Amino acid sequence: MNTFDEIYEKIKEYPTIIIHRHTSPDPDALGSQAGLARSLKLAFPDKKILCAGEEVGDLDWINAMDEVTDADYQGALVITVDTANTPRVSDQRYDQGDLLIKIDHHPDVDPYADMSYVDPEKPAAAEIVYDFLKAEKLPLPKEVAYPLYAGIVGDTGRFMYSETSPHTFEVAAELANTGININEIARNISDVSLAQAKLQNSVIDLMKFDPSGAAYAIITQEQLKKLGMTFEQASVTVSTPGRIKEIMAWNVFVENPDGTYRVHYRSKGPIINQLAAKHDGGGHALASGAKAKDLDEVKQVFEELVEVVRDYNNEHRTNK
Ligand code: AMP
Repeated sequence: MNTFDEIYEKIKEYPTIIIHRHTSPDPDALGSQAGLARSLKLAFPDKKILCAGEEVGDLDWINAMDEVTDADYQGALVITVDTANTPRVSDQRYDQGDLLIKIDHHPDVDPYADMSYVDPEKPAAAEIVYDFLKAEKLPLPKEVAYPLYAGIVGDTGRFMYSETSPHTFEVAAELANTGININEIARNISDVSLAQAKLQNSVIDLMKFDPSGAAYAIITQEQLKKLGMTFEQASVTVSTPGRIKEIMAWNVFVENPDGTYRVHYRSKGPIINQLAAKHDGGGHALASGAKAKDLDEVKQVFEELVEVVRDYNNEHRTNK
């Protein structure tokens, strides 16, 4: 792990800086990427600062990607934000630069970069980027604050999830003080289309519950097609079951066009990222993702979740 100062020294050195984030971007991936890029552009108008990654779909209100050529990577500094492991870096040319720096808030299971700043206790990569910009006295006007605030609101579940700290509120207040429209950002993050609302309802309808407090739902390709929704738009359903008191941890499985499944894990207490790691995945202690090749693996994933929730319940009963 490096210090902010060490990372800033490298930023000052390189004429081209390319910033990557993870695939299937969420507001924190895009917000931390955009916040860092915009501030560096203001501080260093003569440098080439680029945002790399696949198109961003419904989240284009946060930021747009730049065109990045192979030649841009020659002698460049590459920074990844919010991306724990290499298969999840959006645009796999991330390793074509001269030096690679990782800035992240996931557990550092894959220390793939030459330099890094990783703090899994932070609720959002955008909060780390803010701390970095602040520490190095880099510009933090409205256009930088807007995506950073979106990242924080997104990854904290609107200041609800467990890593949200008094510091998070201080950062949010300072970002809000720039004059950004925090109401618009909150709305952009929380509003869903009618089709998404219908899918959220059917996730609850179709949810299977174990008495332990574990639950799961499967979203099929057929459902997605019927609602005219993309795979990415389906991810809005993942947090919905968390509002149900009886549910302690849950899986949402989304079928891919090839019949495999994207697996979402969420939890209010039991640690689930070690389960995700067994299925080609990973993530945070209470929010992870993985893959399942077929319905047998879907069943296995859920059985493992039930076991972890039961253990958690037993432990907590004993400790009371
Ligand atoms: P998701 O369920 O896709 O919203 O992901 C929840 C968290 O797990 C995010 O922080 C992701 O970065 C992480 N994650 C999702 N899928 C994977 C994966 N296949 N490998 C590692 N981490 C993942």
